[in-house]
Amino acid sequence: MLPFDVGIPELILVFVVVLIVFGPARIPELARDFGKMVRDLRKMASDLTSEFTAQLELDAPAPSASPARRVCPKCSTPNPLEHTFCSQCGGSLG
Ligand SMILES: [Zn+2]
Repeated sequence: MLPFDVGIPELILVFVVVLIVFGPARIPELARDFGKMVRDLRKMASDLTSEFTAQLELDAPAPSASPARRVCPKCSTPNPLEHTFCSQCGGSLG
């Protein structure tokens, strides 16, 4: 009994056996099925990845979601906290 290690020669052997068993006419069909299977697996993997990423984004909301702002009492323009005067109308934010 041969040890079970699949290298290039084994893959070629498998390909030749498939060619003999199924015939050359079936090869494109088999290749298509194989390609579809690979695509499905990749889609599944990317779906899982995007789901995981979406979950991470839910857990950690963007920092710009609720920035601390000083709203101008005169013109209602939101100003950065460190501003003392409104950047829009120049009125005092105190
Ligand atoms: Zn203002």
